[in-house]
Amino acid sequence: MINKPKLLVSSCLLGMNVKYDGGNNLIDNLDKLNEIFEIFPVCPEVDGGMIVPRIPSEIISHNPLKIENEYGIETTDFFKSGAINSLDICKKYDIKIALLKSKSPSCGNIKIYDGTFSSTLIDGIGIAANTLQYNGIKIFNENQIEKLYEYI
Ligand code: SF4
Repeated sequence: MINKPKLLVSSCLLGMNVKYDGGNNLIDNLDKLNEIFEIFPVCPEVDGGMIVPRIPSEIISHNPLKIENEYGIETTDFFKSGAINSLDICKKYDIKIALLKSKSPSCGNIKIYDGTFSSTLIDGIGIAANTLQYNGIKIFNENQIEKLYEYI
């Protein structure tokens, strides 16, 4: 039997109800993804110790790193811990590719919200995505699935 390539995936894209509002971001054609890859689900925010539902957080500053929820309560450590957990899973199972949810302060790989809680997107990367990318994991978001299929 040929081993399938391994893929780390944001749990919310798989239909797991881990979003801040208790919902998910289920993608179309999950069967195809399952057929091609061996999937490893992660939710860096929940894995980092945050609850569902939770108050949404945004990255307030990168240097020094500061993340706060909409009520101004700092949540940086949860995000750091979730990012490290995702990286640990990649290292443990030798995972080199990830499919992560766009625009999230954890999982976003191209754009993130600007820290003003006004739905304003800026160029940037989430904490888990950045940690994985820095360690050589190739990241795609749910709008880049065709590119992901071409990549393998
Ligand atoms: S942290 Fe990532 S996996 Fe978890 S809900 Fe947010 S986008 Fe989805």
